Amino acid sequence: MSDLRELYQQVILDHNKNPRNFHELAHPTRTVDGYNPLCGDHYTIFVEMDGETIKDIGFTGNGCAISKASASVMSSTLKGKTTQEAHQLFDVFHKLVTGEPSSLSTAELGRLAAFSGVSEFPARVKCASLPWHTLNSAIEGDKEVVSTE
Ligand code: ZN
Repeated sequence: MSDLRELYQQVILDHNKNPRNFHELAHPTRTVDGYNPLCGDHYTIFVEMDGETIKDIGFTGNGCAISKASASVMSSTLKGKTTQEAHQLFDVFHKLVTGEPSSLSTAELGRLAAFSGVSEFPARVKCASLPWHTLNSAIEGDKEVVSTE
């Protein structure tokens, strides 16, 4: 178990240090700001839609390692997915970080599994889920600002 833990930690450290899709988009369909005032995480998430498909995702901003790694993994996981697939993955991720049992195996979870340890730290759950909540609002088109509080 400790090897797995170390691997997960490496995934988070790597995505924090070299975040994927860490840039603005030239032609975003939607731009949403996400705030987690408890930790000070603040990200702007850009989404370019092609019908029901998420064609591209970018993000800018700052926050703790968990939130930045989560935004990086979220953006690389959801790029090219449909809004329906994105909602399903959002649900999977939410269960993972809140410690609810998931029907998916570790292999199926892929990179998302790196965030399973977050469930042991309730204060970090909002850090990990902020980018997902923000993205969700971007594809729903219902809000321009999201706050965890
Ligand atoms: Zn945070």
